[in-house]
Order: sequence, then C-alpha cells, then structure tokens
Amino acid sequence: MKCHGMNGAGKPCGAPAVGGTIHCLMHSGRAAELGSRGGRRRTVYNPDGLKEFPAPKSAADLRDTLAQSIVELRTGKMDPKVANALGYLGASYLRALELADIESRLEKMEAQLDYAAQAISHVRGQGGSDRA
Ligand SMILES: [Zn+2]
Repeated sequence: MKCHGMNGAGKPCGAPAVGGTIHCLMHSGRAAELGSRGGRRRTVYNPDGLKEFPAPKSAADLRDTLAQSIVELRTGKMDPKVANALGYLGASYLRALELADIESRLEKMEAQLDYAAQAISHVRGQGGSDRA
C-alpha cells in the first residue's frame, strides 16, 4: 500500500504506508510527535563543562587542545557538532601555520638575497674596470 497523501508539488506521496493505515509516516501526523520526542532526547551540552584554552600558537598547542577535546567528546561533555567543527578548524589552522612558516622563511631568504646583491655591487663598484 502506498501513501494517499500529497507531496509539496501536489502529486501523490507514493511513500510506503505504515501500520495498516493509508498514510506514510510523514502524512500520518505522527512525524511531529516523533520529532519532538527526538528533540527531548537530545543532550544539552553546556560549554561551561569544557576546559578553557588560550588560542593555540603552535602545532603543539593545537595537539593539546585536540587531545583534551577527544577526552571531552568521549566523556559526553562536548557536543559532537563542536568536535566536528574543531576537526575542520584544526586542519585549517595547521595549513595556516605551515603557510606562515614558509612566509617567514621566504622573507628571511629575500633579505639575505638583497644583502648579497648589495655586497656584490659594492665589490664591483670598488673593482672599477675589472668586469669580464
Ligand atoms: Zn505520504
């Protein structure tokens, strides 16, 4: 038996009917009831239960924060949604850290290159006409 209800587009629902009725779960009127029961069962996570950390400054800081988060997730103190977001943020943070490291190394190399170029032109200037 298929559901006799109509979908949003005004067409027959077509979903399987449940419990000997002519309607599917959504059209039986029980969906809202089941939904609110689900809502009541949902755990309320209080961020006060989480350990506070200063913003991580290094991969080691991030490691400690994530390690603590694993414990908090497993002991039910942390909302899995927050843990999930932390996973994404952690990965982005590591990429930014990597990029910042490359950036600062590049700056140093550029400064050294400038210095070397100046030293070479200084030597050439003193040598006068000994250019090849
Ligand atoms: Zn239906």
